[in-house]
Amino acid sequence: MLNASLRQLSLLLSEKKISSTELTSEFLSRIKALNPDLNAFITIDEEKSLDQASAADQMIAAGRSTPLTGIPIAQKDIFCARGWLTTCGSKMLSNFVSPYDATVIERFDQAGMVNLGKTNMDEFAMGSSNETSYYGPVKNPWDRLAVPGGSSGGSACAVAARLAPVATGSDTGGSIRQPAALCGISGIKPTYGLVSRYGMIAFASSLDQGGPMAKSAEDLALLLNTMVGFDEHDSTSLQRAKENYAQDLEKPVNGLRIGLPKEFFAEGMSSDVSSAIEAALAEYRKLGATFVEVSLPNSKLAVPVYYVLAPAEASSNLSRFDGARYGYRTAQYSSLEDLYTKTRAEGFGEEVKRRILIGTYVLSHGYYDAYYLQAQKLRRLIAEDFRKAFEQCDLIMGPTTPTVAFNIGEKCDDPIQMYLSDIYTSTASLAGLPGMSIPAGFGSKNRPVGLHIIGNYFQEAQMLNVAHCYQQVTNWHELTPPENL
Ligand code: GLN
Repeated sequence: MLNASLRQLSLLLSEKKISSTELTSEFLSRIKALNPDLNAFITIDEEKSLDQASAADQMIAAGRSTPLTGIPIAQKDIFCARGWLTTCGSKMLSNFVSPYDATVIERFDQAGMVNLGKTNMDEFAMGSSNETSYYGPVKNPWDRLAVPGGSSGGSACAVAARLAPVATGSDTGGSIRQPAALCGISGIKPTYGLVSRYGMIAFASSLDQGGPMAKSAEDLALLLNTMVGFDEHDSTSLQRAKENYAQDLEKPVNGLRIGLPKEFFAEGMSSDVSSAIEAALAEYRKLGATFVEVSLPNSKLAVPVYYVLAPAEASSNLSRFDGARYGYRTAQYSSLEDLYTKTRAEGFGEEVKRRILIGTYVLSHGYYDAYYLQAQKLRRLIAEDFRKAFEQCDLIMGPTTPTVAFNIGEKCDDPIQMYLSDIYTSTASLAGLPGMSIPAGFGSKNRPVGLHIIGNYFQEAQMLNVAHCYQQVTNWHELTPPENL
């Protein structure tokens, strides 16, 4: 059951071989046993989950089920869920019970999925290791000395350790793909604007995008079918005809032109990651794909550009946390200004404060032109590089991360090293392109390696097809971490 795909679970439920209540209880007891060490969940609420499970059982009995009805899903704690503590990994929201549902939550609720709990994450999604969470680091189930990646580290850990069949994540510069890679699971960040950001706590609004995390590409496709869709509550939500992402999964990939950016295969990638990626590309060659070298000359600027733009937007978005309206409030204050200052000094962690300072600086009079405007121009050039590359190829492949998971604590004192974890993922984020990571073997210390697939705008179906074909001839996505309980 723990390794079953969404299709298998759906069949078991519709044939009444198992009830949602049984399925949900099985995952809840696994969470109870393993979460105290792994720390993948911030909040679990058995009663709420079981209530939803019994409602799902009724939907199934009444013949009103969808392909996802009754299946549990772990929700990243960045998504507001009505009646659930929604912390975004921060002390600032450590007492915030959301009065409303994010559109993503609402869509899964309507499909009859069961919310298994809220997963741990870097504070306000700022991080690449889950170590900035107010709720402590998450462990990588493949090696508990290692980080799971971030910021959706709790979701990645939960799926990898089989604490949940599937999960949600959000990706601003790599937060779905990087933890998926480090935990040996699959994850996709759709084209910017496809998944509603309403109720997804804002970090950098021009980059933030929700997406699914799961064992396989097929599961991702089924989740995307529910997650994607226009939402009038989100001003950047795109209005497009509904697509069935699972429809073309089996299409043969022979003749596919895979672009390999020479900048991604240059120095920076560790040799263990490089050999796993080479082996994955060899599988694609066997499947009939062809390779073409492409160039993304401005990709070396992606990390600096991202770390100007994302903090700029964050400094503005996070101004709402002032202690006056909701969330954490300092105990004692003498004036309104004192309330703001103390609340923010006490409520935010170090990384969030660093971003607010950088963001405020690059937006301030006198520096705006030199940093923010310049970064916006470079963002355009990065997108332009991709446009040219896609004239020569159907999609782009490379490593998701330069190294396998590093140890907990290893990069905490070196923000620049930490930021470089996003070197490959942030390019697609800045261009608004869809990106995904699928498991492609193991590197040093037997830690997972992810293959990064970047598609052209709205090519999610093609990317999922290409990933699925690889998963038909390899079994990396089916392997489970050693259960050293
Ligand atoms: N690691 C990147 C950061 O710290 C990306 C995070 C994300 O995608 N939310 O900002």
